[in-house]
Amino acid sequence: MSRLPVMSSKRVLTSSSSSENGQDVAPAPKKIRKDPEPLKPQAAATIMGCKRPPVAATRAPVSKSVRGMGAATVAVAPSRGVLKQSVASTAAKGGNIKQPVAPAATKAGGGGTTRRHAWDLKGKVSDMEGKIRNYQTKVKSVNQENETLRDTMVQNKMRVAEVEKELERQRSQISEYEKELQALSGVQDELEKVSHDKSALQKELSNLEGKYKVVETLRDSQATELETLKMKLSVQESTLARLQVTIRDAEDTIRSLKETVAQQKDELHAGEMERRRLHNTIQELKGNIRVFCRVRPLVDGGLSKHIQLPASDIKTITLAKSEESHTGKTAETQKNYNFSFDRVFGPVASQQEVFEEISLLVQSALDGYNVCCFAYGQTGSGKTYTMEGDEFEDARGVIPRAVQQIFRAAEKLGAQGWEFTFTASFVEIYNETLRDLLYTGKASKRPEHEIRKLTNNEVKITNLTYENVSNEDQVLGLIALANQNRSTAQTAQNDRSSRSHSVFQLDIEGVNAGRDVKCKSTLCLVDLAGSERMVKSQSQGERFKEMTAINGSLSNLGIVISALANKESYVPYRNSKLTYLLQGCLGGNSKTLMFVNIAPEPESFGETLNSLRFASKVNDCVIGTASANRK
Ligand code: ADP
Ligand code: MG
Repeated sequence: MSRLPVMSSKRVLTSSSSSENGQDVAPAPKKIRKDPEPLKPQAAATIMGCKRPPVAATRAPVSKSVRGMGAATVAVAPSRGVLKQSVASTAAKGGNIKQPVAPAATKAGGGGTTRRHAWDLKGKVSDMEGKIRNYQTKVKSVNQENETLRDTMVQNKMRVAEVEKELERQRSQISEYEKELQALSGVQDELEKVSHDKSALQKELSNLEGKYKVVETLRDSQATELETLKMKLSVQESTLARLQVTIRDAEDTIRSLKETVAQQKDELHAGEMERRRLHNTIQELKGNIRVFCRVRPLVDGGLSKHIQLPASDIKTITLAKSEESHTGKTAETQKNYNFSFDRVFGPVASQQEVFEEISLLVQSALDGYNVCCFAYGQTGSGKTYTMEGDEFEDARGVIPRAVQQIFRAAEKLGAQGWEFTFTASFVEIYNETLRDLLYTGKASKRPEHEIRKLTNNEVKITNLTYENVSNEDQVLGLIALANQNRSTAQTAQNDRSSRSHSVFQLDIEGVNAGRDVKCKSTLCLVDLAGSERMVKSQSQGERFKEMTAINGSLSNLGIVISALANKESYVPYRNSKLTYLLQGCLGGNSKTLMFVNIAPEPESFGETLNSLRFASKVNDCVIGTASANRK
């Protein structure tokens, strides 16, 4: 602001210096005439308002009108005082204030072309006065302009204040916005997080939607299934209802049937007991001791003449012996020995036929009666064949068949509540010594045996093998073991089996827990030693000893049976190991069956006769009525 007047004053100086030479005085007034335009208050106001004078704008007015410019400069001065000073200073610098006035006066005079004569003072004064008037007008307008500018400035100041206020307001608003922005950046973070969460949730949602679809499908199928099941259920419910009715009916039927069954079981049991009683009565009527005779066929089959078996009578046998007449004149005389037994079996009688008779006694053994079955006869007469037989089905003897019958009958009785246990033993009596035929240990460690009578009158052998058996095969195995044991004992010179008694014993114990009934019995099957007698002179040493033992035990067997038959107070059981062992099965409550086996060869006539005599003596005995071993 301070520079502008300087610049304008310099130009003023330049122009005045040139006019001083008197050359350019005329052009100056021309310029003055144009001044009113640049002196527009707007131009001055523009310069003032901008504070920074634009160079181009400043120059243009300078070249056009130096005076105008100077006037403008004066006009923008802050006060009238300053204006005067400025003019004064300009005048002082230039030192020729009159010179610029002169041309102006020329102009003001309006007759710039007319030059006043030196003498025309009046004219000159009037020119000067015109000029003064001119200047005064100008000052006036400049003052007016100044006023306007001042107002404008005041207005501008006010506006500036307003603008500053507005600026302040804007700044505070900006700071508010900045704060808001800051807050919003936090919000953005949150937003990002939220959008991240959202995408995760969307993923999960789509996942869940997939699952939901699957579940829906499943639910649909299950609903269908449920429907089907409901239908089935309703069908089954009706079936169930029907069945329940049927079941109730069936239960009623079952109840009544159970009652019937219980009743029938009672009846059956009573029937079984009655059967036993009747069976026993029959056996007793048949005789508690029975003797069967069995004639072995000749090796070539058939029979020799001396043995006659009448076809009409199955109980008699005749031994015929023809003797030459002492005189020689008469024909041969024939002596017949007739014997009758409970049954006589001829040479063609099968093992099965023979067993049928014994099976009744085996039944008695199951019913609780002791049963003893002997095979008596000379060696080779068929004792072993009768008792054991051969392995072939048809040739099987009494022991395997009896065992089979017992196990089958026990199984049937099981249905009526009976439970049986079986114990088997097999013992050999040789020279009055006991030998365990079921022994499987070392020969050197064979134990000795003794017969013991227990307090309950049962007879047991010490150290003997008592084998529990529950089926036929086990028993057959034991028989095979016994035969093996026997054959190892015999030598070529000594047919041990024919010189010893073998006793197979099966202890039977039956319990019917429901009926509180028990029974106990023993089935004894004895293959006796050969009954043949030897001429004393022929038997010596071991043979003599054997013979004595055999004869002793066999004759004692006869004596015991006789004593029992005659109900003698003393029965000599102890006289032989055989009778002592079998005492429980002889007499009293037992059934005895003796087979007398006959060899058909003519040379056996004597032995046959002896055997038949022995057997018929036993047959004549009547043993006291037996009673079952009930406990
Ligand atoms: P034991 O034992 O009395 O000495 P066995 O039983 O050994 O006599 O019989 C001697 C032989 O006669 C044996 O070969 C046996 O097979 C045979 N035998 C015995 N009895 C009959 C019979 N009833 N039918 C056919 N063969 C028999
Ligand atoms: Mg034999």
